[in-house]
Amino acid sequence: MAKKSKKSAGKKDKDKKKQKDKARKGSSSSTSSFTEALQVTDGFVLADVDPRSTPHFSGDKQAGKDALAAADDELDALQEKLYAESRAGGRKRVLLVVQGMDTSGKGGIMRHVVGAVDPQGLELTAFKVPTAEEKKHPFLWRIRKALPGPGMIGVFDRSHYEDVLVVRVHDLVPPGQWKRRYATINSFEEKLAADGVTVIKVMLHISPQEQKERLAERLDRPDKHWKFNPGDLDERAHWEDYQEAYQVLLERCSTGHAPWFVVPADRKWYARLAVQQLLLEHLRGLDLAWPEADFDVAEQQERLADL
Ligand code: ATP
Repeated sequence: MAKKSKKSAGKKDKDKKKQKDKARKGSSSSTSSFTEALQVTDGFVLADVDPRSTPHFSGDKQAGKDALAAADDELDALQEKLYAESRAGGRKRVLLVVQGMDTSGKGGIMRHVVGAVDPQGLELTAFKVPTAEEKKHPFLWRIRKALPGPGMIGVFDRSHYEDVLVVRVHDLVPPGQWKRRYATINSFEEKLAADGVTVIKVMLHISPQEQKERLAERLDRPDKHWKFNPGDLDERAHWEDYQEAYQVLLERCSTGHAPWFVVPADRKWYARLAVQQLLLEHLRGLDLAWPEADFDVAEQQERLADL
């Protein structure tokens, strides 16, 4: 009997160890953060990223949705702190740039991630085909006008990177002109960083199969027809050219002061969680502090008590 219980105790220990190993393996691989797991560094190859993968997260869809909901409050609180710092003269602000092929889920990021932040602390801009007025100016003109003020989180739904994406794929300007833009963008973003802007650039990476399914759904469902744009099919025909254009900009414009992050986006729940966590990790890294009161707190408390 004693022998048997000894055996089962040993088995229990083994089971526990197995569980721990399993948890360790599942627990987000070797990376210590979403920032580390998703950042584009030297030698990066876009085609090697599996759009269905879930780097730095081992849970399933429900766990991902729960994690997203659980972090909403922290995101909102950090934004408030960012804003509070600016009221005391701080210059810090955040710029989240979101790029991706059509149907990659940019809208979902705006609704489910950015939507958790107090709208008063947000400046959201969607960049469309430049207007006649915008076309009269250098490509960064409309971008500069949309930059977030101190204490704000600016979000770009598409951005100046369209000027080396759609413009490159369709030769909308002579090649000599768009080729110079990578360097122009890098020096622009370097200045932003020096001026207190934390630039987070996210590419939502979907597979062509997933895009086909999402486009088919838009056609199948009358409540989604409004989202379907026949022009998206014309763009889809240029899939490879776009992937090449993305590869080049990721290589050339992922810098120390403004890195790119490639977020696998075939699973919408993962992409939303990853972008939220990237924002959170960067906000935490800003070491924000509540400004000190510029009045005597005790004195004001006394006055209030008497009123
Ligand atoms: P959704 O994904 O929700 O359909 P969207 O971002 O595709 O929204 P649209 O108005 O359908 O919004 O598309 C915007 C279009 O503007 C895209 O085709 C994009 O390539 C184009 N665009 C954005 N910036 C530029 C630019 N600088 N030059 C040329 N075209 C641009």
